[in-house]
Formats: sequence, C-alpha cells, structure tokens
Amino acid sequence: MENYQLLLDKQHSFFRKGHTKDIDYRIETLIKLKELILSSEQDIIRAVYEDLNKPEIEAKRAEIGLVLGEIDFTIENLAGWAAPKEVNTPATHEGAKSFIYSEPLGSVLVIAPWNYPFQLAVAPLVGAIAAGNTAVLKPSELTPKTSRLLANIINEHLPEEYLHVVEGEVETSTALLRENFDYIFFTGSTGVGKIVAEAAAKNLTPVTLELGGKSPTIVHSDANLDEAARRIARGKFANAGQTCVAPDYVLVHRDVKEELLTKMKEVIKAGYGEEILQNPNFGHIVSERHFDRLKSFLDNGELVTGGGSDRSNLVIEPTILDEISWDDPIMQDEIFGPILPIIEYDEPSKVIEEIVKRPKPLALYLFSEDERLQDEVLTKVSFGGGAINDTINHMTSHYLPFGGVGDSGMGAYHGKASFDTFSHFKSILKRSND
Ligand code: NAD
Repeated sequence: MENYQLLLDKQHSFFRKGHTKDIDYRIETLIKLKELILSSEQDIIRAVYEDLNKPEIEAKRAEIGLVLGEIDFTIENLAGWAAPKEVNTPATHEGAKSFIYSEPLGSVLVIAPWNYPFQLAVAPLVGAIAAGNTAVLKPSELTPKTSRLLANIINEHLPEEYLHVVEGEVETSTALLRENFDYIFFTGSTGVGKIVAEAAAKNLTPVTLELGGKSPTIVHSDANLDEAARRIARGKFANAGQTCVAPDYVLVHRDVKEELLTKMKEVIKAGYGEEILQNPNFGHIVSERHFDRLKSFLDNGELVTGGGSDRSNLVIEPTILDEISWDDPIMQDEIFGPILPIIEYDEPSKVIEEIVKRPKPLALYLFSEDERLQDEVLTKVSFGGGAINDTINHMTSHYLPFGGVGDSGMGAYHGKASFDTFSHFKSILKRSND
C-alpha cells in the first residue's frame, strides 16, 4: 500500500513557507485554475460523456459552469472575506478592541464522488485555495476518464507541494485517510462518510461530510401542477437521477395525483422522446452494480411510465411508480437513479410525521402556494436545504451555503461558506496599556 506521508510532508513544508497566506497568490492560483478549465473544456465534456454519457449541455452547466461561477464569485469577494473584522467589545473589557482573523488550516484532503465527477472535485478545491490551504484531491475511481483528466490538469500545471491529485480506489482513500491532514472534505455516501469520520477522529482532523439520503418532494393540492411536473422531472431525471439533491420520492395530495402523473408523463415524453433507451442525451447508470440495484426496484408498486432498461448500455428509462408504500424496498435507501416512487396523502401533517421519523434528508421540496403549510414544513422538518416550488436550484446559488444535517452530512460550502469551511477564525482581543 502506498504511503502518502512524503507528499503531505512536502505540502506542510510548502504551507509553512507562507506563500498561500498571500491573497494575491490565492487569486493568481484561482485565475490559473480558471484558465486551465477553459482550455480543457472540450476534454472535460468528453470525459464526463465517456464516464456517464452526460450530455454536453449538462456538462457545460453542472460540471464546468458551476465551478467557473464559484471561481469568479470567489475572486471578486476574497479580499473582503479574508480581511480581519473588528467586532464589538463588552463594556467589561474597557479600553480593549476585538478582532477576528481568518487563517488557513494547512493541507486539506478532498475526496470526491463519481456523479458530478468534475464539479464535486473542483468546487471544494476552489474553497481550499481561497482560504489559503494546500490540497490533495482524490477523485472517484468509478469515473476513470474524469479522474485521469483531473490528474493531468492539476498535476501537470501546479506543483505537487501545493495542489495534487492522487488517483485510486478504496485502498488509496484508506491510505490517504491515515495521514494527518488538517482538514478532510468528503462527498459521497452516508456509509463511507462514517468511515471517513472515524479515520479523521484518530488524528482529531475536522471534517465536512457532504452525504446523501432520501430527499422528499411534497406536492400539495394547491400546487401549480404544470410547473411542479416540469421542475420535478428536471430535478429527478438530470444525470439519470444520480444527483445527491434529486427528488428521491414524491408525496402528492390525493386530489391532484392523477393530474400530476399525467403531466409528468407528458413532460418526460417531450423532454426525452419515445426511444429513451437510444437517446444519446440521457445519462447512463455508472456501473453494473448500481444498474442491478436499481432494476430490482422496477417491480415495486404500479408502473405509470418507463420501466424499460438496457443492461449492455447501463440505461434505465425515466420511470414513475405509483401505489408505493413506506415499507417497499425502494423506500428503504437513497435511490440515486431515474426511478420516482409516488405516495399519496390526505393530510400534510401525516406526511410531516412520516418524514421526521426518518433520517434527516439532504434536501426537501414543497410545491404549494399556502404560506401556512410552507411555514409548517420549514419549522417541523429538519433537512440540509431545499426549495419551495422548485427542485435542486438552491445548490447553484453562491449565497446559499450547501450541506446536509444529521445522516445527510455536516458542514457546508459554496460561495463564502466555502471560504469559511476551509478557514480557522482566530479571535483576538487587543488591550491597550494606558
Ligand atoms: P462513495 O461514498 O461510494 O464514494 C465516494 C468517495 O469515497 C470515492 O472517491 C471513493 O473512492 C471513496 N471511498 C469509497 N469507499 C471508501 C472506503 N471504504 N473508505 C474510504 N474511501 C472510500 O459515494 P459515491 O457512490 O461516489 O457517490 C454517491 C453518494 O454520494 C450518494 O449517496 C450521494 O447522495 C452522495 N453525494 C452527496 C453529495 C453532496 O453534495 N451532499 C454530492 C454527490 C453525491
């Protein structure tokens, strides 16, 4: 098994030289990263297509555009975020002044998943660089083309003592996790998140865990069903349902269920056509193991639309399953594929009761104009973040920290939250001798 101590020693010694504490140095690195991304745009599009059949438009928006947006926003705001802040001083400390200084943590480890293999690897790096750290990135082995490309982009153009990509499988992660990094930023499943947290605890290394879970979508009787159908389908079937914040299942009021299902069928047909298994613009499932797991759900409940699959190409049609109960196999774990179970309800309060009995979701979506219901859901249910009358778009705002709670994770990033995540805030009282 490889030993990464030498790499970490090099990063720690580079960090101690202090270059990364200079704001201009950080900004120059972010500009360089942006140029590298722009000059590799076609390679990135090709890699995520070969790994996941991700259509160019999705690659441009969700893999590349999102990261470039983060870089621009960070460059624009970094000096302000990093400047020491004077804060109030209590009357008991008369004659003193109080300040908060941000400082980088040191060398951070970023472990990335396969579903947005470029974005979820590079967006945390932007925060790590902005806050003045060195970093080691371990991309997912399940998307080998993107992993290779990331290694080429970073390792050929940036010194390893500053930023370095280590490719590999579980053993590589395990070996990296044994080293004494100053911070670990992990994106992946809840199960592996626990392994990461345990390894980090041995070195008292703080962590951010960006995990998954079953994200509910509630469609109430007063919802705008045209918009609900479009926005749920877009959030669910992008990347073939392999999005951490995708609506996992839909809870729909009995009075509007049939109409919602009819509209969703229309939206799917209009968006992906009749021959979806042959559609080059529909994502593929990442591996045979995931394909088989998903296929086993297709006989749950009653089929509304979809249900077709092709194992040789790892494609499953956008599928809706009605008459699902909380006990069905598909309701036990995060689905992470293009299959949408539907459960109907009469009373919103019953739905809330069911959701809060389960692990806290990463996201929740509510389609309703009723502000009382909106308030009730927001105050009674704990979840990472979400949207009213929309799906997934909360995660594309620089102004909304993105992260989970409970089983869906800890910590957050994006925009200033990324800078904060990778910084330590040092509180200083300056007292005069007068
Ligand atoms: P995963 O947990 O299997 O793997 C993630 C990373 O951990 C990979 O780099 C992998 O090599 C590494 N890894 C796997 N097993 C390990 C082990 N035993 N020890 C150490 N490292 C190990 O997750 P995945 O399948 O790549 O991604 C899917 C999951 O990630 C879903 O649950 C999804 O919801 C979640 N996810 C969350 C977010 C978020 O932002 N919250 C984003 C994307 C995906």
